Amino acid sequence: MAATVLTSLNFIDGEWCPAQSGATIQTYNPADTRQLVAVYPLSDAADARTAIAVAVRAFPAWGGITPVARGRILSRTAQILESRKGVLTELLTREEGKTLGESGGEVQRAIDIFRFFGGLSYTVGGQTFPHDLPQNLLYTIRQPLGVVGLITPWNFPIAIPAWKLAPALLAGNAVVLKPATQAPGMSLELARALAEAGLPKGALNVVVGEGRSVGHELATHPDVVALSFTGSHAIGQVIYRQLAPRMARAQMEMGGKNPTIVLADADLELAVNLVIKAGFGLTGQACTATSRVIVEKPVLEPFLERFVARARELKVGNGLSPGVDMGPAVSQAQLEIDLDYIRIAQAEGARLVCGGQRLTAGEFAHGHFLEPTVLRDVTPMMRIAREEVFGPVVAVMGVDDFEAALAVANGVDVGLSASIVTRDLKRAMVYADRIEAGVVKINQISTGLALQAPFGGVKKSSTDSFKEQGAAALDFYTRIKTVYLDYSV
Ligand code: ADP
Repeated sequence: MAATVLTSLNFIDGEWCPAQSGATIQTYNPADTRQLVAVYPLSDAADARTAIAVAVRAFPAWGGITPVARGRILSRTAQILESRKGVLTELLTREEGKTLGESGGEVQRAIDIFRFFGGLSYTVGGQTFPHDLPQNLLYTIRQPLGVVGLITPWNFPIAIPAWKLAPALLAGNAVVLKPATQAPGMSLELARALAEAGLPKGALNVVVGEGRSVGHELATHPDVVALSFTGSHAIGQVIYRQLAPRMARAQMEMGGKNPTIVLADADLELAVNLVIKAGFGLTGQACTATSRVIVEKPVLEPFLERFVARARELKVGNGLSPGVDMGPAVSQAQLEIDLDYIRIAQAEGARLVCGGQRLTAGEFAHGHFLEPTVLRDVTPMMRIAREEVFGPVVAVMGVDDFEAALAVANGVDVGLSASIVTRDLKRAMVYADRIEAGVVKINQISTGLALQAPFGGVKKSSTDSFKEQGAAALDFYTRIKTVYLDYSV
């Protein structure tokens, strides 16, 4: 069955419009690249400048209404998204490749985020402090920043834009959003829902285009006073530098090399379940995916035996088909990166014990499919133990004891999410204290976050200045002003 091809436009000043140059870009289903999914404008710096100018004009009115009024629009957006959950879920799978179950969960996450920030609108305010003198009031207010740029990746094409947009708009900022060109559809659907919910023209503008043109303009334009980015470390660092000369506020969330430690006392069945899900779920294309499993030697062989058996059972396929556990890589380029890392790991001495091959026969012929891959005998200095792959490739490492596991886990230059599987409460808590990561999971998968709690990495995973998600997300998008009032006079 040929699915309908979607034709979408940029969303600027409340209107749907093509790129000023007239250029377009297509997306194809990563499970079957013969299927064209959608056509979008291929915008450039001129479109970005127009969107920024529109946002500058829209900001005073949008920032001037109350948070409660803005929150009502976010709550209505949640309802509208909910009424379209099925359509959004399918489009997400067709454009990005993850399974329908994974897409459905992600769309639900976006709905819940808008509901959460809609409710939170009643609490957006400052603090009062006792003053040293009588009849004096000392308090803070929170104010929006102005025009905020958002640059988002393809791997969570609705959840990440949602978790940046909802607090940015609730705070009263005007926003220009640039989604990744591999999967821009969900960002435009968010704009559609927000517009229907009553968002004033210009408060949100979505410009589809490449990082080097549209992204570069957002990062360097003097009217963009803050920028929140999620993506690779290489690009995050480039953007951070571009923001620095004008001291624009920066929030860069980048990759990880997330460990799951399996101690000798662990419930091995649980450990295998967690690593299967955190390593191969979302085709390993999550910044919080488990890519290193660090196992205490007494249980290394039994763990590997069960883990490999389970990895072999995973059903790889088109995310739209029922019963599929793991979809394709998002693109040919990503697939080649995955295969390169598998080759590099083997050349450095790691042993391939599961998968490692591209799938090309039959139904796989036109997609970017890779087998779930397990490498063993990985040692800490190998590239596969240090560099983010962003694919279904799990490196297993044996260690002598808990201290060695912790040293290996901390021995990389990134720190996003980190799991441990153990029944030993003391070691679990010491791990939480000493692991260099922004998120710690005890007997839980390294992926998956509660939308109401703060999220962000440490070391090279993040600028580590502001957290995302939860009420803490508002700190990035607001400025605190302190007011002194003397009513004794
Ligand atoms: P990912 O592979 O996870 O998408 P990237 O860092 O390549 O990670 O891209 C993340 C986002 O940053 C995308 O929207 C991309 O278009 C954008 N981007 C890429 N290069 C630049 C750049 N030089 N300036 C600004 N944004 C960029």
